[in-house]
Amino acid sequence: MSAKLISGKEIALKKKNEIAKEVEALKQAGVTPGLAVILVGNNPASRSYVTSKEKTCKELGMHSLLIELPETITEQELLNKIDELNHDDKIHGILVQLPVPDHINETSIIEAIYPDKDVDGFHPINVGRMMTGQDAFLPCTPYGVMIMLKETGIEIEGKHVVVVGRSNIVGKPQGQLFLNENATVTYCHSRTVDIKSITKQADILVAAVGKPYFITEDFVKPGAVVIDVGINRNSEGKLCGDVDFENVKEKAGYITPVPGGVGPMTITMLMFNTLKSAKKVLQKLQSTGQIR
Ligand code: NDP
Repeated sequence: MSAKLISGKEIALKKKNEIAKEVEALKQAGVTPGLAVILVGNNPASRSYVTSKEKTCKELGMHSLLIELPETITEQELLNKIDELNHDDKIHGILVQLPVPDHINETSIIEAIYPDKDVDGFHPINVGRMMTGQDAFLPCTPYGVMIMLKETGIEIEGKHVVVVGRSNIVGKPQGQLFLNENATVTYCHSRTVDIKSITKQADILVAAVGKPYFITEDFVKPGAVVIDVGINRNSEGKLCGDVDFENVKEKAGYITPVPGGVGPMTITMLMFNTLKSAKKVLQKLQSTGQIR
């Protein structure tokens, strides 16, 4: 293997230790960071994500509230629940695990969460703040990728970054975060013509496609940094990314594995955002003299 491995697992562990220390300090000051996670229905993948979020919250000493609602819940009932949490002082972050059932409008749900508690960073106010370079909750997966690169000491400014994928939760914000760090960014998607000729120009290549082994070595410039966001099952049912790791690792300069790459960073940044929200609340309570 010629590429250096970027271990999301190790970087996430380091970050989680830092977060746990800050959580303890915040608790001493009188605020326990709290995250509410709403799960609608019984999708097994969603349930497993929600369980790990709850577990991580507890590990880091945060208050965790898991709300399980039946598949049959109406949109209005879900909106009422969100409203309740918006006004709950113990809760600093609210997350509705996506996807929600078809009869519920995802956009209405995302927009119902107070932007100051939108620790997923999906609310249009946070998206707009991110785009204009203001302080915002950044979406956890793309934010996690940025932290991985920073922790590894990989320079971003002036680099050509190619992002394959343009979803609202991964691809689009990923490119924006690189742009905010002065990279030159190109997006590729399902309508891109001759995709390889573009990905081969990338100093940093991010795959967020959702197709097992989509990025083969002929997509990659020698020495490039290859970040694999994909979480897929291959034909044998084994967890795999969007990158053909075994072959690409011989050509890339740096590479992230799946599992143990971007995945662990996503949950960590969710905890980071919840802590950030709680810190803001503490500052407010201190500035108004409600806590000394
Ligand atoms: P989406 O399905 O929403 O988006 C996939 C993107 O890939 C789209 O923009 C699509 O283009 C593009 N695409 C699809 N086929 C091709 C193709 N043949 N050539 C070029 N582009 C193509 O997926 P997500 O963004 O939500 O997720 C992407 C992957 O990341 C998935 O494997 C998902 O499981 C994983 N993921 C991992 C997370 C983590 O924590 N590590 C968190 C979130 C997601 P178009 O827009 O034109 O349709």
